[in-house]
Amino acid sequence: MPVTHDFNAVSSTGDTPSDTINKLIDDALQQDHALKLGRDYLGASRLGEPCARALQYDYTQTSRDKPFTGQTLRIFEMGHMLEKRTWQWLQGAGFVIDTHDPATGEVYGFSAAQGQLQGHVDGIMWQVPESLEPAIKVPAIWECKSLNAKSWKHLVDKGVKVSKPVYAVQIALYQAYMEELIPGVSQNPALLTAVNKDTSEIYHEFVPFDAALAQTASDRAVHILRATQAGETLPRISQDPDSFYCRFCDWQNTCWKEIV
Ligand code: SF4
Repeated sequence: MPVTHDFNAVSSTGDTPSDTINKLIDDALQQDHALKLGRDYLGASRLGEPCARALQYDYTQTSRDKPFTGQTLRIFEMGHMLEKRTWQWLQGAGFVIDTHDPATGEVYGFSAAQGQLQGHVDGIMWQVPESLEPAIKVPAIWECKSLNAKSWKHLVDKGVKVSKPVYAVQIALYQAYMEELIPGVSQNPALLTAVNKDTSEIYHEFVPFDAALAQTASDRAVHILRATQAGETLPRISQDPDSFYCRFCDWQNTCWKEIV
């Protein structure tokens, strides 16, 4: 009988070859991520986050308690890949959506408050299939998200404003601030497309411009920027470090070590 070798056996370190390969993948992803420059501005995609102090940590590039794991970085990348594929599906269905500004070759975006508030838009919708006309007008913002089944179902059931207020703020800010570059974009509902990562179901929601929401978020951004420039630490959202918000916060340890 020939001696068979178990290529998938657990090694002396307790790892299977699969574990070893994944560690190599994750190490490479984490090293790559560490080389990337963090953003030194408040991102419109985050401004709907409920805790002002967490936003302040993000803006000041305060180190997270733990670096992103390889798995988290893979989830981010899969989201980008899925966004690209979803854009192709929509293009194939008769939409015309530009993800980059043909004039500059850059992604569409805006910069306000001397560059301290910025947003980058997934796309500008220039044309919709005939069957959606004339109700749906362009130009309009296109925003794409990928969600797990539970989160996606909640969005479908409740709509973006209730289910994903952070996205609602992001879209309202894009509509407000992109108006200067793309006239008319604030008058037309944005299209939010959300892909269920588990089932590949797709949900679309047209989101009319909410000027009050955009204004509130914009005022909040100014408040956070001014407080940070004045060296002020903004209040916590909760007095309980084990609250829902704090348990999932990237700065939980940092925050609760502070005296204020
Ligand atoms: S730990 Fe809680 S209070 Fe502190 S920044 Fe995070 S969410 Fe805000």
